[in-house]
Amino acid sequence: MTVMSGVSRATFDEVMVPNYQPVAPIPVRGQGSRLWDQQGREYLDFACGIAVTGLGHAHPKLLAVLTDQAARLWHVSNVMTNEPALRLARRLTELTFADKVFFCNSGAEANEAAFKLARRWGNAQDPRKHTIVSFYNAFHGRTLFTVSVGGQAKYTQGFEPLPGGIRHAAFNDLASLEAVMDDSVCAVVMEPVQGEGGVLPATREFAHGVRALCDRHRALLIYDEVQTGNGRSGSLFAYEQYGVTPDVLTTAKGLGGGFPIGAMLTTDALAGVLAFGTHGSTYGGNPLACAVAEAVIEELARPELLRNVGERAAQLSTGLVEIGRRHGLFGATRGLGLLIGAPLAEAWKGRAKDVVNAALAQGLWLLVAGPDVLRFAPPLNISAADVDEGLRRFDRACATLTQAGAG
Ligand SMILES: *Cc1c(COP(=O)(O)O)cnc(C)c1O
Repeated sequence: MTVMSGVSRATFDEVMVPNYQPVAPIPVRGQGSRLWDQQGREYLDFACGIAVTGLGHAHPKLLAVLTDQAARLWHVSNVMTNEPALRLARRLTELTFADKVFFCNSGAEANEAAFKLARRWGNAQDPRKHTIVSFYNAFHGRTLFTVSVGGQAKYTQGFEPLPGGIRHAAFNDLASLEAVMDDSVCAVVMEPVQGEGGVLPATREFAHGVRALCDRHRALLIYDEVQTGNGRSGSLFAYEQYGVTPDVLTTAKGLGGGFPIGAMLTTDALAGVLAFGTHGSTYGGNPLACAVAEAVIEELARPELLRNVGERAAQLSTGLVEIGRRHGLFGATRGLGLLIGAPLAEAWKGRAKDVVNAALAQGLWLLVAGPDVLRFAPPLNISAADVDEGLRRFDRACATLTQAGAG
């Protein structure tokens, strides 16, 4: 098949800001767990964007809802409200701890709203109560405030001066958190599973300890469930499995199944902090995004779907561990639900990208989570047969790498 579109990977270097370095194949079509590129090559998608298209590509219900809404109403501004936004907000409050919802367009914006809520809440009590605590290797988005809160120096270098009033502690280390806690802290933000930081789940003990420290210092607990949310963990949100209730929860990624939307969820007691005029977003809560997200949430509320996440997660990690050990690439996996990380063995450290490229050559789309960890995030509704096929392709990819020689 010839490329009729007149654009190719080379076009990227000509006309795009070089902040990304995309792989050579350009996907042009997706269906369920599969993608096809410009040349018609087929790939199994164990990436879902970056844990975004949780119901696979071109899901018939999402497609129907999107096209139906597209024919009715795209946009009205927040001077008016709209039916899809109201229905989605109602559904989210029914299914979670939250009573109130703020809509935006991305994970970073949801976190920005959460941090602003926390600052305003603290300031109202005492201007010194403004410190936000987060964890090293956390990822909360790429705006200046969210990269500053996320504890990864590589994302803030060169962007100074950075916003102040932020402290960092070591993840899964309560003593480290305790050392930075005092009554100046207005909020602690954590990912239940650090996603970009290496698919590292919080221990149960840590999650409960963070809640207790927040309570002791009257600080808000913010759960960043941008990546773990919307069924990815095996429950609608991961906090349910930890048995810890946050004060604020942020989500995005899987919420729109690929259509941009973000949300911040909170309680009645805190929602009033963002009083009329204090915050906003032109596109936040737009009818198209909310209609699609409503359909996503409806699908995720089906028990069969969450059951499938648990079953496919067990199947995938069992298969991965067997292949990883046989080829000497890794000996174990970690994560929650269908967010699975495989930390590479010593001899393969730093080569996660090479493994992803080898998998791509075998028709399997994977992700890295830093240089040393492979990340697997297939669709939540993937079939057992497609998991097996993905494992076969992964096995072949590992074989090409080990034949080429380790290290
Ligand atoms: C992806 C991600 C974000 C940022 O979301 P964007 O939509 O890219 O702004 C924030 N937090 C976590 C945990 C994420 O995985």
